[in-house]
Parts: sequence; structure tokens; C-alpha cells
Amino acid sequence: DQDLRKLVVGVDTKIPLIDGSFVTAINFDNAATTPPFVSVLDKVYRFCPWYSSVHRGTGYKSQISSNLFDVSRKIILDFVNGDPNHDTVIYVKNTTEAINKLAYRLCRETKECVVLSTDMEHHSNDLPWRNKYKIDYVNIDSNGRLSLEDMEEKLQKYMGKVRLLTIAGASNVTGHINPIYRAAELAHKYNTKILVDGAQLVPHAKMDMRPVESPQHIDYLVFSAHKMYAPFGIGVLIGPRETFAYGEPDYSGGGTVKIVTHDFVDWDAPPEKEEAGTPNLIGIVALIEAIKTIKDVGMERIEAHERNLLKYAVTGLKGIGGIRLYGDCEENFSEKVAIIPFNVEGLHHETVAKILSYEAGIAVRNGCFCAQPYIQKLLKVNKDEIGAYMRDRSIPKPGMVRLSFGLYNTFGEIDRLIRALDYITRNKKAYDEKYKRINVRL
Ligand code: PMP
Repeated sequence: DQDLRKLVVGVDTKIPLIDGSFVTAINFDNAATTPPFVSVLDKVYRFCPWYSSVHRGTGYKSQISSNLFDVSRKIILDFVNGDPNHDTVIYVKNTTEAINKLAYRLCRETKECVVLSTDMEHHSNDLPWRNKYKIDYVNIDSNGRLSLEDMEEKLQKYMGKVRLLTIAGASNVTGHINPIYRAAELAHKYNTKILVDGAQLVPHAKMDMRPVESPQHIDYLVFSAHKMYAPFGIGVLIGPRETFAYGEPDYSGGGTVKIVTHDFVDWDAPPEKEEAGTPNLIGIVALIEAIKTIKDVGMERIEAHERNLLKYAVTGLKGIGGIRLYGDCEENFSEKVAIIPFNVEGLHHETVAKILSYEAGIAVRNGCFCAQPYIQKLLKVNKDEIGAYMRDRSIPKPGMVRLSFGLYNTFGEIDRLIRALDYITRNKKAYDEKYKRINVRL
């Protein structure tokens, strides 16, 4: 879709291959970071002469900046259908910081409780909860999908003690979209709250936090701008204002207080209390513009295009002998964002990723994608194997190659990938030897 392609910066960039020739770069690593929209770059460029300090000055430019800053929270809440009377939007630098902030905040309220995470989380929705709470994990099935039965069993088992159920909106490994509304209903049935890690969902599907009175209401939502066509360094934590109303913030300093004496502090109300220091207004301007562009294009169109890319790529990959796909890749397309994890039988995942990059100009990611426990389950890696590679770092770690599509990717690009993989699988031995011998660093 050429109209979609034009929205993004750098789609025609030429890059060198290992043999010295040049090709148009292909980026199939959008789950890590997306390139910015042209509109975002343009907006930032046009806004730069106008920015000044936020909530710290009466100058004309400060007023513009402060107004924009205040209005931005409403735009974000509107985008995900949060409730402006109930929810607050706290700016952070990314999803990881948002989850750490919430973990710190909830932890200060009570330590004698359980956080229920899942077997399929990114490390950023697992590690921040450890050592602060008792943590347990909802099981997955053999396709890597979340078990709602196990979720209910665990909510029952820890009856009344679960402080939070925290789940990915969509997996960054398999692309599985989780049944977040059914999970929310379960959480509320057992009198707990739910956090959705929206890093992989919000850029690719319509997100609706739903009314506060609804049993399907999403209590907390986090996501990062750099995965939705805006730059690094800005993300959001959305949740009930009440959660942040009492006690001290994790970071304190300028912008967090109403009155300070040497022996007294009157903290500001949230969200200000939670945003110490000068905010990243340029990042916010970029995120708001990215949201505007996504809305202008329409999330339904984005979803339809990305799902078509997903189906096309899966069909192509299945046509090549010696490719192993993970997750229920061939079915349930409607419950997946456009992410495909795979391995080439007989080649290490890192070798495949390097060949694709150095010999075909195609960027993918390989390894465990910051979700090691999930990968270990999907690949059925046992404790002995984990122990072995922990003792001997020269043993190659298990992992996968990951393709992740964005709205600007094309069927033609997938054709190039399929041709490259077809060639690689038919020349495995030569490639394996070649890449053992050379350690390419561009
Ligand atoms: N959760 C998920 C599902 C992710 O995919 C990622 C990024 N890979 C994160 C959390 C962390 O996001 P960030 O690096 O922007 O903090």
C-alpha cells in the first residue's frame, strides 16, 4: 500500500551488503522500534522554534508549551478511551519505566500481597515485580497462548491477596493478542486490578480501556512512543489518579511539590507529583502527532494491512522446507499482531539474522527478545540446558528469529525475504561454514 508507505521516513534508504553492492533496506524489526512518521518529524521541526519551559514560565512560548502539555494528556486518554474523571496520564520514558513506577507505587501500599504475571511476559513486565511482591505466573499452552483457566485457578488460589494481574496486550515473541477484556473481568471478579502492557498492542490494534463501571475496564495501561512511529524517550502510564494520590513519588525534585520548607513537603497532586524534572515536551509533541496520524489513517486499515502481511508471510514461509514456525502461526490470524517467530532447521538463529542482514539487507531480530522464560517454554529448554549455558557462555543460547511488520511494509518486501530464506535453506551448509569463519562487523 503505497499511501501507507509514504507515511514513514527512510523507506527508500540504500544500504551496503557484504559484497559491496547496495540494496533498499528492509526493516522487519518493528516490534523493537518503528521509524518515525514523516508527519512526526515535520511537526517536531515546526514546533522547535516555539518550545520553552513547561509550567515554569509566563513567557509567550512557555504558555504555548504548557498548554500543549496539558492538552496532550486528554488526547492520549481519548486515544485509548480512558476516563478523564478517573484516570491520570503520567509521562515516563518508556514502558519499562512505567511498569517500574507502578511496581514502586503499589509496593509502597502493601508488601504482603501477590502479583500475578504470566509465562509470556517481556522481562519489563516480570523483573520489576520481583523482590517487591510474591510473584506467580499464569501458564501458557503449547502454542504459547495464555490459559484463562489457569488464570482463574491462580486468582482463586490467592483469593484476596492478588494486588495486580499484569499481562501483555500482545506478545512481542509470538504476536498473540491476549484476551485482555476477559482477563479484566476475571481480575475484577476476584477483586483485583489489571495492568495491560500495551507496548505491542497499542500501535497495532484499537485499544479501549472501557468505562470504569464496566467489569471489562482496564485499570492500568502502559506503552512506548518509539514503537508507534514517534521517537525514543517518551512513554505513558495510565491509571486511576487515586493510585498516585498518597505518599512520596519514586523520583522527587522540581515540579513535584506545592510547598517545601526545610522540614516539610506538601506534594503536588498526580500526575505532576510523578513527573520530577523538566518533561520531554518534544517527545510528547511527537507522540501526539503520531496518534493523530494513526487516527487519520484509521486503526482498522492498519490492522487489515498488517494482518494481510502476516498471512502472506506465513504462507510464503510454509512453502519453504526446513523452516520451523512457533505459536499457532497458521491459525487464529485475527488474534495476532504481525509478528512471526521462526528458526531455520540446522542454522543458529544468529547466523540466519546475520545472513539476512549482510547478504539481503533485511533487518530482523534474533535471540530471546527480552522474554527468556517464554522462549524457554516454547522451545522446551530444560533446566540442565539452561544450567549448561550459564556455566559455559560459549554454548550458543537457544532462541529464534523474529519478523515483525509495520504499517509501511509491503508484499514485495516479503517476497524478497522469502527468496532470501529459500536460498539460505538450500545452501545451509555453505552458509554455516562461511559464518563460522567470518565475524562481520559493519
Ligand atoms: N513490553 C513489551 C511487550 C515489549 O515488546 C517491550 C519492548 N520490546 C517492552 C515491554 C519494553 O518497552 P521499552 O523498551 O520501550 O521500555
